[in-house]
Amino acid sequence: MTDVRENLVAGAWVGDGRSGYADDVNPSNTADVIARIPQFSPEQAAAAVTAAADAFRSWRSMSAVSRGEVLIGAAQKLRERADEVADLLRREAGKPQTDALGEVLKSAQFLEYYGGMGRAAFGEVLPDVRPGVFSHTRVEPLGVVVAITPWNDPLLTPARKLGPALITGNTVVLKPASVTPIVSQELARAFADAGMPAGVLNVVTGSAAEVGPVLTDNPLVNAISFTGSTEVGLALRSQLAGAGIRLQTEMGGKNAIVVLPDADLSLVASTVVAAAFGGVGQRCTATSRLITIGESSESVRSSVLAAMSERLVVGPTDATDTTFGPVISEAHMTSVLGFIDRAKEQGGTVLTGGSRRIDAPFDAGYFVEPTVIEVDTSANLWRDEVFGPVLAVASAPSIDEAVDLVNQSNYGLSAGIFTRDLSAAFAFADRVDTGQVAVNLPTSGWDAHLPFGGFKDSGSLFKEQGTAALGFYTKLKTVSMKVG
Ligand code: ADP
Repeated sequence: MTDVRENLVAGAWVGDGRSGYADDVNPSNTADVIARIPQFSPEQAAAAVTAAADAFRSWRSMSAVSRGEVLIGAAQKLRERADEVADLLRREAGKPQTDALGEVLKSAQFLEYYGGMGRAAFGEVLPDVRPGVFSHTRVEPLGVVVAITPWNDPLLTPARKLGPALITGNTVVLKPASVTPIVSQELARAFADAGMPAGVLNVVTGSAAEVGPVLTDNPLVNAISFTGSTEVGLALRSQLAGAGIRLQTEMGGKNAIVVLPDADLSLVASTVVAAAFGGVGQRCTATSRLITIGESSESVRSSVLAAMSERLVVGPTDATDTTFGPVISEAHMTSVLGFIDRAKEQGGTVLTGGSRRIDAPFDAGYFVEPTVIEVDTSANLWRDEVFGPVLAVASAPSIDEAVDLVNQSNYGLSAGIFTRDLSAAFAFADRVDTGQVAVNLPTSGWDAHLPFGGFKDSGSLFKEQGTAALGFYTKLKTVSMKVG
């Protein structure tokens, strides 16, 4: 019998799924059922919120230095168990082991970075025109934060939210994606082992339809940090309008890279391949559009295609040389293949890939070939997020038209340019309407201290990462004191 994995709630481990149990399956080999996951009932989800509310007063009154020590301790626990957690991550998210290990270590960095902020200065001393009056600001936590996270970076995304939420004194209910809950449970274990007081972090697993409403429409909840699809993020935005719950949404992207004719082609090729096909393209910051200029288009495309066959080793994730694994699930595979079919129907030319791999051992999982399709910019593939290994390519006559193409999108997460011309790079950074801009670098991969977040339908007013993330999780109080 497969093990039941438990959720941390109010300091106890709960394996009872009052709405049943779901199998957590390895997308690289569906015969590998990793564990059974309790599906919480609405009442169990509500109990997790209550636990977070009950823990708030004492957590916020603990010194920030002590809170930071818990975060740094949790990072240490993750590092000690890095191989084991990476192996679970590999199995449940379908990542090659080196990618999985990289995610564990980067998650630890997030906790260390925010843990260190326990010793940082918060608030300001302000001048006051009134004699004898001392004025200052205080940065205060909001209360209970619900963190809703997706399956593509199932450890990193929670860590990115928990770091700033917890160091500032909030308590948290974490709702991981249904297909990748185990590593969130392991993150909670790292906190528990590091001495996190009961109720400060609680994990809720279950179907979004059942537990979602309890987490998002609950008077005890003060803020929701959501990462996931644009569809769900925008629905939450409308649902919460006027509700007095602060909302941060990190949603989709349709990230373009523009290659100018003077670019270093081998750098372009290796970077585009990593940015488009790393994580099997299942990243909100993945490069999904490649824009080349006029006559240089042919050489850019052939360099990218050559680098793909050199660098991408498609394989099951238990093979050590694999760099490109499966997509997350059967439903997602069907969706990705649907985008490819539609692009073909709309006149697109498949330059490589385009199909599911069904030869052994790929028939055991959900493998889609790394795919490049040349499309007209009116095609759906140019606009819609696939969240998979599909790169759309098109050319523009000049950099001006290329920038227009970058901006002709409802999304505004990340964009990149390859050029040796500094003024072209600065002009690009100025004109593109995206939250992240990369010059001669991938559109993905932003370090813990670099503010991260998209414009338009990719994000919200609130950035994640860096000190900028603290703004979402806090409120500012201004205090003026005349003493004596
Ligand atoms: P993904 O394809 O990454 O799963 P989703 O936007 O569907 O993208 O899901 C992201 C996260 O949001 C998951 O944890 C999912 O369970 C959760 N979720 C989806 N719908 C809702 C909802 N209505 N309320 C609360 N959480 C939701």
